[in-house]
Amino acid sequence: MTSLPGNERSEMTAEILDGQALAKTMRKEIDAEIAAFKERYKVTPTIAVVRAGEDPASVSYAGAIRRTFEQRQLGFGMYALPANVSEADLVAQIISLNNNPNVHGIMIQEPLPKGIRTEVITDALSPVKDIDGVHPANAGRLAQAAPVGRPPEVSDFFVPATPAGGMEILKRYNISLSGKHAVVVGRSRIVGKPMAFLLLRENATVTVCHSRTQDLGAICRQGDILCAAVGQAKLITASMVKPGAVVIDFGVNFVGDKMVGDVDFESVKEVASMITPVPGGTGPMTNIMLLRNVLEAVRRQLG
Ligand code: NDP
Repeated sequence: MTSLPGNERSEMTAEILDGQALAKTMRKEIDAEIAAFKERYKVTPTIAVVRAGEDPASVSYAGAIRRTFEQRQLGFGMYALPANVSEADLVAQIISLNNNPNVHGIMIQEPLPKGIRTEVITDALSPVKDIDGVHPANAGRLAQAAPVGRPPEVSDFFVPATPAGGMEILKRYNISLSGKHAVVVGRSRIVGKPMAFLLLRENATVTVCHSRTQDLGAICRQGDILCAAVGQAKLITASMVKPGAVVIDFGVNFVGDKMVGDVDFESVKEVASMITPVPGGTGPMTNIMLLRNVLEAVRRQLG
């Protein structure tokens, strides 16, 4: 049974928003979609992951994407370039993938080495293959998109997989957003900002916080929905959370070898009405959304 934000649950422990279970359900849905898809389009949906250097988190993430794709007999190509690759060579690699009809989605892993301008690299991507929604055409269209329920105003665009996964959790748990105050902590172009725009599109009233925000706790306490995308272990504590709030934690941090979120789960679960755990919350949803975006990319490329 799910409950709605704002309910008086201060005496109760929060309901867990189980991203692991949701991802399992969605994998089944997507597997059926992939089977129908291969039949219809007679192609193998294929992703190319591009990396410069060997950042350990990027290497590990690429491995997880590879498993997700290969388990489904989908195409996966890893383009791991050396850390000292030139900007021009990296752009050339992306253009070659743009022009390769057997590649449907391209993901560029960050961080990029020093000296390589992120905007030059993302600008080089074909927007129809930009399955992580970082090209300005996709990010701009998300920013310009009309609220749900009104004429779309802009054509289709890709949404970064992590915030798309957070929104899917909110949707599948029937958490109403319209008119709610959503507070997003973090303003990166890959998590915080797109999450804020997605919530705005769903007619939430959105406040975005960042490292210069003063009295973070007071602002967070206003949130019916509180999203954390910071990268600081357990930054959000119980005293910063409105009783009954729904808390979405995107954080992936390591304390020793233990993975923890940006939210202090143990204390916050006593205040919130619903909360995503780390691990097992937003994380498992990311690959699913990436998979979905690759299928969508094939649809757009093949009509
Ligand atoms: P970034 O480092 O790009 O952005 C962090 C944001 O947090 C910035 O906007 C920064 O502000 C803000 N910030 C930093 N310190 C504070 C503070 N003390 N108070 C308020 N705001 C602060 O990180 P990402 O957005 O890429 O990632 C955020 C988290 O999400 C990380 O833990 C990352 O590992 C995780 N992540 C999880 C994924 C998943 O699948 N669940 C996928 C991708 C990331 P400013 O802009 O002022 O610098």
